Amino acid sequence: MFVNALKSRCLATKSFASFRQFSSTRSSLQNALQYDVTIIGAGIAGSSLACALKSQEIFKNLKVAIVDPAPIKKIAEWNPPLDSFSNRTVQITNATQRFLKRVWDSVFQERIQSYSKVVVSDFLGKSSVKFDDSVGTGNDSAAFLIENINLTSGCAKILTQTENSNVDVYTAKVEEISHYDASSETTVPPSEFSPKTQIYPQLSLSDNSCIRTRLLIGTDGANSVVRKFANISHSVYPYEQSGLVACAMFSELNNTAYQRFLPTGPIVFLPHPNGFANLIWSIDNNVLSKLKNVSDETFVTLVNMAFRLRSYSDLEYILNSINEDGSIPENFDLDKELEWCKRLSLDPSSQSSNPNEPISLPPLVKSITKGSRQSFPYRLSNASTYYSHRIALVGDAAHTMHPLAGMGFNSGVYDIIELCKYISKAISNGEDIGSTEYVLKPYNSARYAADVALQSYVDELWHLFRSKNPIITTGRGIAMRLLDKFPLIKSQVVKQIMY
Ligand SMILES: Cc1cc2nc3c(=O)[nH]c(=O)nc-3n(C[C@H](O)[C@H](O)[C@H](O)COP(=O)(O)OP(=O)(O)OC[C@H]3O[C@@H](n4cnc5c(N)ncnc54)[C@H](O)[C@@H]3O)c2cc1C
Repeated sequence: MFVNALKSRCLATKSFASFRQFSSTRSSLQNALQYDVTIIGAGIAGSSLACALKSQEIFKNLKVAIVDPAPIKKIAEWNPPLDSFSNRTVQITNATQRFLKRVWDSVFQERIQSYSKVVVSDFLGKSSVKFDDSVGTGNDSAAFLIENINLTSGCAKILTQTENSNVDVYTAKVEEISHYDASSETTVPPSEFSPKTQIYPQLSLSDNSCIRTRLLIGTDGANSVVRKFANISHSVYPYEQSGLVACAMFSELNNTAYQRFLPTGPIVFLPHPNGFANLIWSIDNNVLSKLKNVSDETFVTLVNMAFRLRSYSDLEYILNSINEDGSIPENFDLDKELEWCKRLSLDPSSQSSNPNEPISLPPLVKSITKGSRQSFPYRLSNASTYYSHRIALVGDAAHTMHPLAGMGFNSGVYDIIELCKYISKAISNGEDIGSTEYVLKPYNSARYAADVALQSYVDELWHLFRSKNPIITTGRGIAMRLLDKFPLIKSQVVKQIMY
């Protein structure tokens, strides 16, 4: 019965009524469960995709599985107090927020900060660009800061609603993936695989379930098992840098984002409500452990210095003097050094090459949430293609980039938008949703070049702002000052990235 159903599905023009029947059929062979779409990974990309497949009318007849060892039911119950924020956040663009409309209605709104004001400054170029309400569309906020857990929890609330649900949640790990030949009802040995229509991905899960699917979507992150199974090669360029994140508390309320490019990489404050901020300090791996291990009080002083100091060598001198484990050598008077730096760093006009145009500084950080410091290694990576036979890669499984432009997840959402577009076209035209020709190739064409262009742009920015070459730093300064003076160009930049 399973074979017949699969065969009939492959004959392009089937009604959804008959397809539902196929979808919910259980094969006697190995008790495998059949799904139209199986999503591996319920991070922010996978859960957003599953919600789109659950929410949009065109997909209501698809039978969808989402698999992740994370307890989605528990995540749906997440309800923390408003006096603490997670250290993992994403800045999402207006376009992403619009796509996530249904999810947006399920998240805790009071934990989201929308903002249009952003100050980007360059330490060596002694210049800055201010984006404010006058750029962008004028009506909407350019960006939103949301905790990853708020987003996944909002998705989990939708995914765990059982009424009329077309999505099944598996709290399990994918342990093995193979190919199943529906015409011979056998598992295909890897050496004998060829991309025939009747061959389907088959998954063994840690809860002993077996799933066969017409379309397998890997949203299982940078170390994707789906990508490995599909034999898709993957190039990785490690930045030898990590993002040290923390939840910071300002001395006053703030709804502006601040990014300062230091010679080592950017340090960023993204605003949370109630005077909190997400701190992301991109730092070379050789000083990472020092910054992770110093006391909270010392860390706060170092963060304030990093945003305010005139000379980076002062900060470097202090960092060089601290031991790997964050302890302070006996012959080094850290308090005195910090006090001296604090005094030096109180004059914002010193940061600008033009004293009449001082660079806007963030409020001082008062404290950080205990235990909120955590680091994430940065790497630029890209799969050689985003599809294979009945398989698509989405989000970090397909590509990762330096977060200096805050675009990693956003580009994953742009993948989802395109993939959904081609799946829905296939449905409308009665085509196979796992079709290489109608779904996967067009998806790859729509996203691959765009993702590579974005990655290159972000990578070039990283190299550009890291350069200490005086010609480049002077050029940077001039370019930023010019950009700051032309609201129309700024507006175009914001629209291109955010809308
Ligand atoms: C410091 C930092 C700041 C960032 N800031 C931004 C920002 O402001 N804006 C932005 O757009 N992006 C940002 N990013 C990037 C963004 O966080 C990532 O692009 C995004 O989290 C990737 O989501 P994902 O769902 O694709 O992958 P992941 O979050 O890695 O999720 C993968 C999921 O797959 C599951 N999984 C893995 N293996 C298996 C298996 N075998 N079986 C079942 N499940 C499996 C995992 O449990 C996990 O839940 C930032 C990144 C960093 C490090």
